[in-house]
Amino acid sequence: MKKIVILGAGESGSGAAVLAKVKGFEVFVSDMAEINPKYKKLLDEHQIEWEEKQHTEEKILRADEIIKSPGIPDTTPIVKKIIKQGTRIISEIEFAGRYTSSKMICITGSNGKTTTTSLIYHIFRDAGYDVGLAGNIGRSLALQVALEPHEYYVIELSSFQLDNMYDFRANIAILLNITPDHLDRYDNKFENYADSKMRIIQNQTPDDSFIYWNDDPVIQKELRKFNVKAVCYPFSELKEHGSIGYIEQGMYTIEQPTPFNIEQESLSLTGKHNIYNSLAAGIASNISGIRKENIRKSLSDFPGVEHRLEKVCKVAGVQYINDSKATNVDACWYALESMRTPTILIIGGKDKGNDYEPIKPLVKEKCTALVYLGADNRKLHENFDSLGLPVRDTHSMKECVDACYELARPGDTVLLSPCCASFDLFKNMEDRGEQFKQLVKAL
Ligand code: ADP
Repeated sequence: MKKIVILGAGESGSGAAVLAKVKGFEVFVSDMAEINPKYKKLLDEHQIEWEEKQHTEEKILRADEIIKSPGIPDTTPIVKKIIKQGTRIISEIEFAGRYTSSKMICITGSNGKTTTTSLIYHIFRDAGYDVGLAGNIGRSLALQVALEPHEYYVIELSSFQLDNMYDFRANIAILLNITPDHLDRYDNKFENYADSKMRIIQNQTPDDSFIYWNDDPVIQKELRKFNVKAVCYPFSELKEHGSIGYIEQGMYTIEQPTPFNIEQESLSLTGKHNIYNSLAAGIASNISGIRKENIRKSLSDFPGVEHRLEKVCKVAGVQYINDSKATNVDACWYALESMRTPTILIIGGKDKGNDYEPIKPLVKEKCTALVYLGADNRKLHENFDSLGLPVRDTHSMKECVDACYELARPGDTVLLSPCCASFDLFKNMEDRGEQFKQLVKAL
């Protein structure tokens, strides 16, 4: 019997283990950390052998093939040994792809993956399609293929997942953008990271579709290196040569394959970045034959994704917005750009070597006050005090929300879009967003 070893027993690893077992392989799961009880239960239910807090080398090295969690870097000692020995390492998505002929809609990019993936899933589901959500969000693809198969899958793919994909074919591939990220895992070479993102189009045929942002210089440069076989659907903010999706005179417009439009005003997601995400999602849905009225309805009633420009509520005429996921300056830039009323910006946290220059013009244009929220706010004072806006120095969410309440006037917006990671004061960005929402609702 062929032996499959799975490294990492999270959502993807445990799902891959179940699929491998169902397909008749001898399966062994190994995790260096403690395994979440819900995954232990799943493995036990399927009589799958597992270990935690260790890697038993002789067992792992005996595998015919290894399925590795995307979170485990190639520099880990056990992975180095596997690579040296020449055993093939694949990702859970690659493995699951072998056992299904369902249509795969795959989304990658440096920013916007979760939003676009969730929006496509929303459109498909509301149109009555049999669709599963997989990849970085939802349940693992492997588990769905094993136990509850769907006709379509909408899959969020990180570059780490793409790295261990070889034969997997995306029927519809979406590449939103490529900006520097995770360079520590790519020998600090941006080109390696960009090449990794382009793996989303490998194995595509002329029957497949490739949707991408036409104005991204990195994607354009990469495209020159590849012979793209799929039908291309480039999109851009404004109508331009080559783009088949854009905004023209206030209309969100898709030319191909079926001409489609909707007033930009009716899109539920706001902000320039969400024009891109909404175009990518609309094109994928259009290609998949979803009726225009369904796409229109779903583009306009999508509730959005938590912690991403999420409207919390209005208090005393002030709109509060939670964009806790904005952990870098680029994401905050897009948030500020989308503000239409005087804004009090909450900024700060664990700074990853941020350069704040790109947002200063927008802060000057849109903000009436700044509230710094971090364990150490010195860098924020150095960067923003000179703009002459009222500023408040806070070190807890309670202090921060109180300061915002005091500064805001009816008609203003309070925006939590902190440019920074959350680990100095919070467990994670979700915890930061939750605390913000709770305190705002309690005002
Ligand atoms: P990902 O899953 O790729 O991290 P998200 O959809 O979770 O992306 O969004 C992460 C952050 O990036 C959000 O704060 C959002 O404001 C910003 N963002 C979303 N879409 C885009 C885009 N297309 N281009 C640039 N920034 C974006």
